[in-house]
Amino acid sequence: MQLRIPGPTPVPPEVLQAGASPMVNHRGPEFAELITRVTARMKELMMTEHDLFVLTGSGTGALESAVVNTLSPGQKVLAVSIGEFGDRFTEIAHAFGANVIRMRFEAGEHADLNRIRETLVADRDIRALMITHNETSTGVTNDIRAVGALARELDVLLLVDSVSGIGALPYPVDAWGGDVVATGSQKGWMAPPGLAMVAVSQRAMDAGKEAKMPRVYWDYAAAKSYLAKNQTPWTPALSVLYALDKGLELMVNEGLENVLARHARVGQTVRDAVKSLGMELLPKDEKYASNSVTAIKMPEGVSSLDVQKAVREEFDIELAIGQGSLTPKLIRVGHLGWVSDQDIADVSTALKAVMPRFTKGA
Ligand SMILES: *Cc1c(COP(=O)(O)O)cnc(C)c1O
Repeated sequence: MQLRIPGPTPVPPEVLQAGASPMVNHRGPEFAELITRVTARMKELMMTEHDLFVLTGSGTGALESAVVNTLSPGQKVLAVSIGEFGDRFTEIAHAFGANVIRMRFEAGEHADLNRIRETLVADRDIRALMITHNETSTGVTNDIRAVGALARELDVLLLVDSVSGIGALPYPVDAWGGDVVATGSQKGWMAPPGLAMVAVSQRAMDAGKEAKMPRVYWDYAAAKSYLAKNQTPWTPALSVLYALDKGLELMVNEGLENVLARHARVGQTVRDAVKSLGMELLPKDEKYASNSVTAIKMPEGVSSLDVQKAVREEFDIELAIGQGSLTPKLIRVGHLGWVSDQDIADVSTALKAVMPRFTKGA
């Protein structure tokens, strides 16, 4: 089966094999070597000198960690959402008692920098901005470079959900900014689910000293003090760590530039195929269309569930449908991590074969 959903993503055989390695003492020398190497490679690929913590949990855990380590109940935060994952980030901040100012854009839109600027300038009590880099539910990539520049200019803490972005899309963290940048092993990193990686700036660590939200498992101060001993505070998902180590090795060998170029290329190929079939992309401005996931609008009267089923049964390719209210209205193609030009050609062939059947006479 070809898995073309935006996470979990396919895992190369050598990565699967690495994941089957025997357990070691997570307080012993083999682990020290492993966590040191993974941490260094993550920093290299995220282009950051910030603290880098490998947490055991899914991407949502990393989002929760960003919130609880930097904010206090009652504190004002601007939460920008352009889809389901932005809403999730917003809800986490709300659940932990932040005073959340919500800014929601319609599905297919990108975040409007001017509106963010106006809101932050009008209320200087807002000291933190939360945003999604790459909105997996709509296939839209925000201009995180411009967001980073704005956050610096206005001196607000920037928390970024880049779970399906970084590693597949350009995001040099130190150059572009971002006080907590969160990602997950099962997205662009060619590894199974189970680990979440966060790059945390000194500023975010300092904010943590004042932050009053309750935290134990996700505490960055604990992660930092254990990492100084080449350990993690709690038992890590060792098998996933072995796999991630191998996935990162593959990425470093391919070269970050090449990895990013490959994603840009397959993204463009998918969009060209969609348009040549007479279908529409959900992103309203193609300039913001994601190179890690493509959201395709279903023609009037066609359910994505039927398309998904036909492609699954006849081509052995697993596509994603929409999320929330968009469930039957979208097909989403994941093309991040281990993805080749041929994989994408196969997806085009499948859509080309099945779509006319559903649209005929419509
Ligand atoms: C996948 C994803 C997450 C996290 O999902 P988990 O299922 O918790 O790993 C968060 N944000 C975005 C944008 C994602 O694509």
